[in-house]
Amino acid sequence: MKVLVVGSGGREHAIARTLLQSSRVKKVVCVPGNGGTASLERCSNMAFGVTDFEGIARFALVHEISLIVVGPEVPLAQGITDFLRQQNLTVFGPTQAGAQIESSKAWAKALMQEAGIPTAKAEVFTDEASAKAYAQSQGVPIVIKADGLAAGKGVTVAQTWEEAKTAITAAFGGQFGDAGKQLVIEECLTGQEVSLLALTDGQTIRPLLSAQDHKRIGEGDTGPNTGGMGAYAPAPIVTPQLLDRIHQEILAPAVAALRNRGIDYRGILYAGLMITPQGEPKVIEFNCRFGDPETQVILPLLATPLEDLLLATAKGNLASIPKIEWKPGVCAGVVLASGGYPGSFDKHKAIAGLESAESQGAIVYHAGTKLNGSQLVTDGGRVLNVTAVGETYDQAFAIAYSACEAIEFEGMYYRRDIGHRVRMSE
Ligand code: ATP
Repeated sequence: MKVLVVGSGGREHAIARTLLQSSRVKKVVCVPGNGGTASLERCSNMAFGVTDFEGIARFALVHEISLIVVGPEVPLAQGITDFLRQQNLTVFGPTQAGAQIESSKAWAKALMQEAGIPTAKAEVFTDEASAKAYAQSQGVPIVIKADGLAAGKGVTVAQTWEEAKTAITAAFGGQFGDAGKQLVIEECLTGQEVSLLALTDGQTIRPLLSAQDHKRIGEGDTGPNTGGMGAYAPAPIVTPQLLDRIHQEILAPAVAALRNRGIDYRGILYAGLMITPQGEPKVIEFNCRFGDPETQVILPLLATPLEDLLLATAKGNLASIPKIEWKPGVCAGVVLASGGYPGSFDKHKAIAGLESAESQGAIVYHAGTKLNGSQLVTDGGRVLNVTAVGETYDQAFAIAYSACEAIEFEGMYYRRDIGHRVRMSE
């Protein structure tokens, strides 16, 4: 079979690499892909944009693509799945209606409230004065969220009234464009954050391994938020009992509520959860796609062929796979970023040492890289995901970190404390 993967990040390189482990997958095409997907055997890049639905459809039809896997949220929110399905293509990823679970926080909150899913108490506002009055009446800390997609930048956890006020003024002043025309103002939760991704075809739900990521740029989880600086799977806080609760109290009611709205949801349902100090799982957000960098630490542990899972989900027969099999052990991932990220940074820096890093047992997934002729260069803020499987977290992180030391590019930055919660040596 031939598979087309939409996207250009570490997540898409991990999906492509995992698919290619199976001899059944003859070819993967990434749109637009990155330097890593360009270098894989049986894989090539096509220079379409991720929202060039017509170009993608034409290519998929001409090249007899059996499955299209959509990585990022933006094409899903713009209806790529609806468009491609109309051409009888098989797509992994929800329709535009289903993607609202991520693309509108107000919509997702209403769905959660309707389904009785545990989440932070919240109200939705479309005007500045009532938003401020509500925030003031609730007191700080309080969380101000732009309703729409804002690349992870639309959320302010305000510790002071000044911060809350500034965030509300900025959002209604157009800081996030249309994404900030509505605000969700919600209770601030405390506890540990975990990500629980599940496959669903709208009926059957198959959770993947839990994962935890580190969003802040600085060690000790300090400084501005990023797309994620590292992750590990599974997250020990998610015990089998807790997973069961998450399934019963969160995933199952969410999928049922989607169905009740007439939505045929086939893809990933990603629950971003806060596990409160009392051990209660509460939803911070839902995403409608694979997480990045979580996917890069979940897929190396997957034993069931990925194409079987994705195809069964896309075709609506996930029930045919009774259980997902996992390899033993744990997986650690460290992101190597360009100096200056998440602020401004330089690109086109030569990257060296990847072979040496992989010879130490690490898997290096590419994110912001590209090939300049035969030279691999940086092409984004998050450049590489250095991933390793081990019997213990200490062992997995030791392999990942020693592989990081083998890699070089000018300005390279990474956190040395990824996994501090689970590493005994920290
Ligand atoms: P991303 O794109 O990074 O997933 P997002 O912009 O969609 O994020 P959220 O995941 O809803 O937004 O929030 C971003 C971060 O803000 C969360 O990971 C969490 O750390 C914090 N946060 C959001 N809501 C709350 C809350 N109610 N209480 C405490 N912290 C919160």
